[in-house]
Amino acid sequence: MKVVHCPCGTNIEAQDDDEIVRKVEAHVASDHPELAGAYSRDQILEMAHDH
Ligand SMILES: [Zn+2]
Ligand SMILES: [Zn+2]
Repeated sequence: MKVVHCPCGTNIEAQDDDEIVRKVEAHVASDHPELAGAYSRDQILEMAHDH
């Protein structure tokens, strides 16, 4: 399980790299629209780790 802990307190979980990138982008777009597009795929994957 890949997890990204958003600074807002939301934990975003996914099974693989493609899914975690998609879910983080969707979370940022809905909850942090001012940051939409601020994170590249590589940056999102750097924030992700295994649980
Ligand atoms: Zn963690
Ligand atoms: Zn968030």
